[in-house]
Amino acid sequence: MVEQNRKVIQCQCGYDRSGLDENALCPECGLLKLMSPKWHKRVRLDWRHCHSRCIKTGFVLAIVSCALGLANAAIAIYSTIYLMTPGFKGGTAGFILFFPPAVWIVIQLPIAFLTLIVTNFPAEKTKLKRYSGLLITISLCIPVIAIVLSFVLVLGLD
Ligand SMILES: [Zn+2]
Repeated sequence: MVEQNRKVIQCQCGYDRSGLDENALCPECGLLKLMSPKWHKRVRLDWRHCHSRCIKTGFVLAIVSCALGLANAAIAIYSTIYLMTPGFKGGTAGFILFFPPAVWIVIQLPIAFLTLIVTNFPAEKTKLKRYSGLLITISLCIPVIAIVLSFVLVLGLD
């Protein structure tokens, strides 16, 4: 109960409602409309309320994994554009297409597994688990889409 009050403590006009009665009208705008906290505030709150170091580690891992996944997807897209631009690039140029899948299997997958184990093992209930799961899913899916697209585009041209 205390936690919920702490989450919705700001009026829609920005007035700080701490100390006010839950049903009191806002002295500033005269309304009883609360501001729903922004996502980064919510994440920060969940982080602060989480007591499991394992889950926190997993969450950080998930963010790292997400950054890695986006970078990997960017590499896949870049190599596709590179291979599709006209001009001879040498017989082995096509090998850069295999770099993103290798990174995905050798680096991304282990990090994802580690994150899921580390975050789901502790019994503590926290939204950080869900955030981590979401980030891991994004970090794995986006490169796959980029990689599949790059293969279809580049190999489809031959
Ligand atoms: Zn107000």
